[in-house]
Amino acid sequence: MAYQAEYIWLDGTEPTPLLRSKTKILADGKEPPVWGFDGSSTNQATGESSDCELQPVFICPDPIRGGDNVLVLCDVHLAQDDKPHPTNTRWTCAKAAKKYAKHEMIFGIEQEYTFLKPNGEPLGFPAGGFPGPQGPYYCGVGTGRVVAREIIEEHTQACIDAGLMIEGTNAEVMPGQWEFQIGAADALTVSDHMYIARWLLHRIAEDYDVVVSFAAKPQKGDWNGAGAHTNFSTKAMREDTDMKAIEAACKAIGKKVDLHIKGYGHDIESRLTGAHETAPYNKFSYGVSNRAASIRIPWQVSRTGRGYAEDRRPNANCDPYTVTRLLLETVCSAAG
Ligand code: ADP
Ligand code: MN
Ligand code: MN
Ligand code: MN
Repeated sequence: MAYQAEYIWLDGTEPTPLLRSKTKILADGKEPPVWGFDGSSTNQATGESSDCELQPVFICPDPIRGGDNVLVLCDVHLAQDDKPHPTNTRWTCAKAAKKYAKHEMIFGIEQEYTFLKPNGEPLGFPAGGFPGPQGPYYCGVGTGRVVAREIIEEHTQACIDAGLMIEGTNAEVMPGQWEFQIGAADALTVSDHMYIARWLLHRIAEDYDVVVSFAAKPQKGDWNGAGAHTNFSTKAMREDTDMKAIEAACKAIGKKVDLHIKGYGHDIESRLTGAHETAPYNKFSYGVSNRAASIRIPWQVSRTGRGYAEDRRPNANCDPYTVTRLLLETVCSAAG
């Protein structure tokens, strides 16, 4: 029997790329081949020379269609010469992961996001108005405290069925906001799984007429933004028991604040204000248990002297290939 392969890739939309996908029907037993698309419709090519190439990089079961059907995450190459397309950030991440492989760096990413009504208001906000202030919604239960749990249930099971490294979910501080976590794994694995999980979320929410927003600050005012806290560790951070490797990593990151902030997602200045459990984007700090620091060291880690640290700055709309690449380059180059 023929089966369906859903080819998924990142487009050239600025400032934040969108996910795109299309379906290929393949004969039983045939592997998903290299394919192409019209880059002039995705801001990745001009009309005169429009062909771009899709190279499969990660394949998993399609939990929506079931059966033998698969999802095929691709990176984009130029059709003329096979070279990676300028929008292909996976390629540069792969280079850094290879260069610093000996440090065995792993990542766990907490993906926050916001459900919106088709008119752009957050789901759970009354038409044209506001719900009660933040407080009861984080990890809440019950009508009036959480919304759209049926989407979370369906998405979580879909991620498990696809074989993704999903670790957990929780309702967030602002109504309509939720989180799931992926990891802990090497840079490419965590990022590949993250993009499939994001695609599944968009796809499942379609069926409910709900919009998924990864905007950093979807609601101005006294409402939390949406981040993608990125937890990271090297082998030394996990194994040495004197905190030195963890502190050295934080110090190295503190020397490259602008570089990291530029790569952590669009509109980060609106989110990292110093309020709403954030540190100001232009002031670097790290500390044990401190959710108002740029980087938090969990208290269990400070007790045992080893483990991981949490960079709380990346936005929900960040590119995980870029965030993990920056952390690889900064932390591992300082570690030698
Ligand atoms: P919180 O909401 O308290 O910040 P979460 O439970 O949402 O924390 O997320 C913790 C994250 O830390 C998970 O993504 C997990 O994979 C990650 N993590 C745990 N141990 C390590 C480690 N040694 N290296 C990298 N990431 C880790
Ligand atoms: Mn979390
Ligand atoms: Mn969170
Ligand atoms: Mn966190």
